[in-house]
Parts: sequence; C-alpha cells; structure tokens
Amino acid sequence: MNRRIILLIVLIVLTCQVINAQFAWPDGKKAAIVLSYDDGLNSHLDNVVPQLNAFGFKGTFFLYGYLPENRFDEWKQVSDQGHEIGNHSLFHPCKGNGKAGKSSRFYSENYDVPSILREIGMMSKLILAITGKKPVSYAYPCGETVVGGVDYSDSLKQSGLVKYARNGKDTDGITSLDNLNPYKVPAYGVKQGSSANDLIQYAKTVVKNGGLGIFLFHGVGGDYIDVDAGVHQELLEFINDQQDEIWVATFTEVMGFVQNTKN
Ligand SMILES: [Zn+2]
Repeated sequence: MNRRIILLIVLIVLTCQVINAQFAWPDGKKAAIVLSYDDGLNSHLDNVVPQLNAFGFKGTFFLYGYLPENRFDEWKQVSDQGHEIGNHSLFHPCKGNGKAGKSSRFYSENYDVPSILREIGMMSKLILAITGKKPVSYAYPCGETVVGGVDYSDSLKQSGLVKYARNGKDTDGITSLDNLNPYKVPAYGVKQGSSANDLIQYAKTVVKNGGLGIFLFHGVGGDYIDVDAGVHQELLEFINDQQDEIWVATFTEVMGFVQNTKN
C-alpha cells in the first residue's frame, strides 16, 4: 500500500480516537453516577438510607426548611455516615401558576435575587445547626434557576454560598464535562411510578456514553412523585453489579473531581 495512504489511515484513526475520547473517571471506571434525593422526606430516612448503607453507597440529600423536628437527629446520623446533605432553599419557591395552598409570597416569580440568596444562606445555617457541617451544594427548587424573571445562577456563584448547584432535565447523562457549568448541573428527574427498567436504562445510557448521570428522586416507597422501594433496590443492585464500570459518589465528590480534572 502506498505510504501516503497508510499515513492517511493512521491519521483518520487517531482523529476518531480524539473525537471519541471519553472523560477519564477514577480507577478506569467508565461513568459516574450520583444518587440524589430532594426535599428531606421521611421515606429517605426510612427506606433510602438503609438500602444505600447496605451497599456502601453514599447518597446526596437536598433538604429545605420543611423538616420534621423529631428527625433532626437522624439527619445528623446520615451526615455522619458520609452521605452529603445539600441545600434546597428554606421555603422551596417555585412558579406559582395559581397553585392552591401556598401563599403567593413564596412563588418564585414574586422573589428577587437578594431574597433567594439570603434564604439559601439561612438554610445553610439550619443545616449547619443540624449536622455540624455547612452544605457545599445546592439544588434549585423545581429545577428553576430563575426568580422574578432573573437567572440567579451567576449571583449564586458570586455569593460564595455553595460551590455546585444542580437543576434538571437530563436524559442521557452529561458528556460535555469540560464545558459543564458547575452552577447548572443537569439531573435526571425520576418520574412517579418509574419501573426498575426505566431507571436501569438511564444508568446503561450513562455508562454507554461515558458520562455523568445524576438521579433526582423524590419519594421512595412513600411520600410523593414516588417509586416503589423495590424498584430503588433493583437499581442499586444493578449499579452494584457494574461497580467495575460505575463510580458512585456524592454530588460534591463527583463535581470536585470534574473540576480538578478539567483545570
Ligand atoms: Zn424540591
């Protein structure tokens, strides 16, 4: 074969490898998965934490001000066990759209940026009082990065209140990690009544794409937007079986690794 053609083929192969280069996760793993749970629900303490602990997985729990006082001690234990406790604001403001049962004062469209930042600061103090640790991460209530018509993700960054923030709307895992804005990290919102297959399918896609997949659960075996506790258990079993390929860690651990690797 002509040497020039051989050289051309080698060049094409090398170029393809560069294009397909996947993010280098620790210990040669193919993908990272974060298991996150919103709203500080009782079903997290009752069902999720025991399941995670049985596998030795660390989860990330985003708490807001509505927390039953009689379970503060258990949240402290969860934090002591190495799970991450993140900030989910104090009043959980979301777009109102005339929602019944919530004062319009707490609709996100009626907020301004200083109000939400002050509120996040207050919640960090509450979490510090409960767990002894200040939260490092934040999850936008209802995945909304906008209050009063203004995107506050940059202001949140400048405030120094947290280092990382999670919003919503991921379907295939995050693959463009070099361009990832740490104050707008997408997550896969688990829908009510999802099957084990739905959840495992997402995990498989994340592994196939070599990316970062962040599960966003609400209720597990209770509460709302819930999935069956057995479904959650099946997902953990799947991830446990794939431990050679999947790195399971908290949101802050994974984001710290991503930040250090790309810099
Ligand atoms: Zn929430």
